[in-house]
Amino acid sequence: MRILLVEDDGLLGDAVQAGLRQAGFAVEWVRDGATAELAASTEPFAAVVLDLGLPGRSGLEVLRELRRRGNRIPVLILTARDAVDDRIQGLDAGADDYAVKPFDLGELAARLRALTRRAAGLASPTLTLGNLVLDPAGRTVTADGVPVLLSAREFALLHALMRQAGKVLSRSQLEEHLYEWGQEVESNTVEVFIHHLRRKIGADHIRTIRGVGYLMAANQQT
Ligand code: CA
Repeated sequence: MRILLVEDDGLLGDAVQAGLRQAGFAVEWVRDGATAELAASTEPFAAVVLDLGLPGRSGLEVLRELRRRGNRIPVLILTARDAVDDRIQGLDAGADDYAVKPFDLGELAARLRALTRRAAGLASPTLTLGNLVLDPAGRTVTADGVPVLLSAREFALLHALMRQAGKVLSRSQLEEHLYEWGQEVESNTVEVFIHHLRRKIGADHIRTIRGVGYLMAANQQT
């Protein structure tokens, strides 16, 4: 899942980016409000981690503008310990959650998993499809209860397909789950990962829709 991180503090931004990457998120880090607004309205992100204290355009202004334009992306705001008013204003302006600095990176990752789960209308923390169970927090997959060993990118791809079961995802939509900005993408990468996934979880789960993309049927038989 791709997360947009908006933080002007270099040290904190670095730490959050590293921590979220370790938790399996693809992270795009921008440092000012104007860039954040542009990124959030032109690129598909699963959630935004938004520092409120930004130079120039504040986080609160960014948030209000996103909501004014009808953008419903889950937003978690970062605030200072003594800034209760900021948290109240932020939540009232359309933020979905907040973290008070200094925060624990494991907790931040868990909050983002919860936010994106709710945004997708899912109640359970694990995804189940036929005989497959995927646990985003533990980053594990089982087939008929037997663990399946996946690489980070194979896991990201399967996660994207299972979260949106019943929808056809194009190759470029799937690439967005695998790469961050500026990373080189080989033209047949998605095909290669799909091939590996099919070998590991069974050939029938992922259907190829020729010329369109890939699909996991929502109502798979166990
Ligand atoms: Ca700041």
